[in-house]
Amino acid sequence: MEVKTSLLDNMIGVGDMVLIEPLSEDTFIENLKKRFDHNEIYTYIGSVVISMNPYKSLPIYTAEKVEEYRNRNFYELSPHVYALADEAYRSLREQDKDQCILITGESGAGKTEASKFVMSYVAAVCGKGQEVNKVKEQLLQSNPVLEAFGNAKTVRNDNSSRFGKYMDIEFDFKGDPLGGVISNYLLEKSRVVKQPRGERNFHIFYQLLSGASDDTLKKLKLDRDFSKYNYLSLDSATVNGLDDAASFRTVRNAMQIVGFMEDEVQSILELVAAVLKLGNIEFKPESRCNGYDESRLLGIEQSVLERAFSFRTVEAKMEKMSTTLNVAQAYYARDALAKNLYSRLFSWLVNRINESIKAQTKSRKKVMGVLDIYGFEIFEDNSFEQFIINYCNEKLQQIFIELTLREEQEEYVREGIEWTNIEYFNNAIICDLIENNKNGILAMLDEECLRPGTVTDETFLDKLNTVCAEHQHFESRQSKNSKFLTDHSLPHNCFRIQHYAGKVLYRVEGFVDKNNDLLYRDLSQAMYKANHSLIKILFPEGNPAKVNLKRPPTAGFQFKASVGTLMKNLLSKNPNYIRCIKPNDKKAAHIFTDSLVCHQVRYLGLMENVRVRRAGYAFRQAYEPCLERYKMLCKQTWPHWKGPLFFLEEKRRQCLEDLATLIQKIYRGWKSRTHFLLLKKSQVVVA
Ligand code: ADP
Ligand code: MG
Repeated sequence: MEVKTSLLDNMIGVGDMVLIEPLSEDTFIENLKKRFDHNEIYTYIGSVVISMNPYKSLPIYTAEKVEEYRNRNFYELSPHVYALADEAYRSLREQDKDQCILITGESGAGKTEASKFVMSYVAAVCGKGQEVNKVKEQLLQSNPVLEAFGNAKTVRNDNSSRFGKYMDIEFDFKGDPLGGVISNYLLEKSRVVKQPRGERNFHIFYQLLSGASDDTLKKLKLDRDFSKYNYLSLDSATVNGLDDAASFRTVRNAMQIVGFMEDEVQSILELVAAVLKLGNIEFKPESRCNGYDESRLLGIEQSVLERAFSFRTVEAKMEKMSTTLNVAQAYYARDALAKNLYSRLFSWLVNRINESIKAQTKSRKKVMGVLDIYGFEIFEDNSFEQFIINYCNEKLQQIFIELTLREEQEEYVREGIEWTNIEYFNNAIICDLIENNKNGILAMLDEECLRPGTVTDETFLDKLNTVCAEHQHFESRQSKNSKFLTDHSLPHNCFRIQHYAGKVLYRVEGFVDKNNDLLYRDLSQAMYKANHSLIKILFPEGNPAKVNLKRPPTAGFQFKASVGTLMKNLLSKNPNYIRCIKPNDKKAAHIFTDSLVCHQVRYLGLMENVRVRRAGYAFRQAYEPCLERYKMLCKQTWPHWKGPLFFLEEKRRQCLEDLATLIQKIYRGWKSRTHFLLLKKSQVVVA
């Protein structure tokens, strides 16, 4: 077999970092740059795909490309995310192993795009037929819907995911798609009422105002002019390269394909409109309010909404106490309602989509999970949302470390292979600092939120500082508390964490409130009274017949629990990694900022990844699949093949040895170093 030269071609750099000679951080970065300059945005580290964001469209995602990569060996063609998708899909089909695709990288690095390429590749190569095609279309079209409601322009990315998404695509034994299940993780709902400078609200608001027909807008009593709405920031209302009106049509069309009824779409748009209008309600000390007449849109009587923004009822045991809200509290209640309406609408959308795309069979399924979450973020101003997002990224880095650096090294030891340990930074201590049940930051925040008495962001910060400083005093510098940075340069009301990807300064303002995530009961009860079927569904706790005095779990607690479930789920599957790298901070094509790339290469642990991979064996296969794969090569196994387990232990070894010699001949020259096949305790490896 001829060896494809693209893996070794010096002009465009080396396709697999494992083959770089000599290996150093400089040669690694230089190789990435060389390839980037030649539009080769993908590079392997063994089976891991590094993806550089080109910030321009490349002609490498065509139907012809799909055909090219289809059923080809991973290393045969130049590196591509399609090769990874193909490998994952084939392992799922042929080896019956559930797969997951883990896509990581900081905000704007190309995760969401990569996840869509993977999904469309798999959709293109799996199954055929009318029924199957319908399933595929629905799975793919769930994307534009969720992006419209869950993505926004940020300073890092014009289409930044503001929620985490994990999608299981389910297949039958033949590899035909059956359906899917989407899980969503904490939407950044604070964006609904306020956006940082240079950023926008969620796309759907702008799409609706730009793209809906005059008639629709009239029905929704909306004005096309963004500037009429307090909740829409003006400094970046239109984004270069984004056509909101066209996107609106795409989204409407996608909703139809996914299976939304016309009246459901209408209801959804009514809610979006209602959120915009809530933002325009004003409160004044004398006359109390302004702008309620629009509450009819929600099917809520004006007086009901007015009351809900005027009083707060506290129920304890058998007593009910009502207090009047002042103007500031009324605004707070208004914003809380808007955020809740929107985020509940979002969760409802996810459930509704799941309803449509769920597999219509109970039989056993093979699963491919695709994880696309919000990437690591460092802003000027970092709040609870960034804290949660960055925590999630720490956990994913943990999986990568566990599986590619730790387990891989342990596997060599298990196989009886001589091994010199390769050092790497393990971020487990940062995860622990955040999630430890006893004195992790989330636990302390919960403790503070549940404590009776006056609780403020400052009391929370005091607690953090006391507990962490105390520990720091007693424990060594290697402890998790050395990741909680206390120094005198820290601004007022802030704490700083040394994350795996950099130091982040968090401002505590809003932590307690966002973690509590409570909606006054008066508001949920007002919503429940709405003569609008969707709103009623979104506020079940507003049902007076179901008064529940128990406190709902905090936002942090829920997030930690769902991340925990996600991690277990991912660990039960065979992982495939796409590590996305951002070439520059300008969202621009052709610019490769060495220092920026170098920083990412370091914290992603890519150098260690290559070292482990180089020191070890790039190709490994357990005995059985190896026999199965190469049975035709050897006269002991072909043409009288009876399955890999047919051979006695002794005979099997003999066969494998013969096979090894043969395969060796075939693969000679494949790698620059001399290599040969070794039979280890349970595997065949290429050394
Ligand atoms: P992330 O999800 O990591 O925050 P995205 O996937 O949304 O980042 O990518 C940000 C932007 O970068 C996209 O909107 C797109 O313009 C560009 N981009 C990312 N990957 C590619 C790619 N493979 N080809 C072309 N453009 C890309
Ligand atoms: Mg994204």
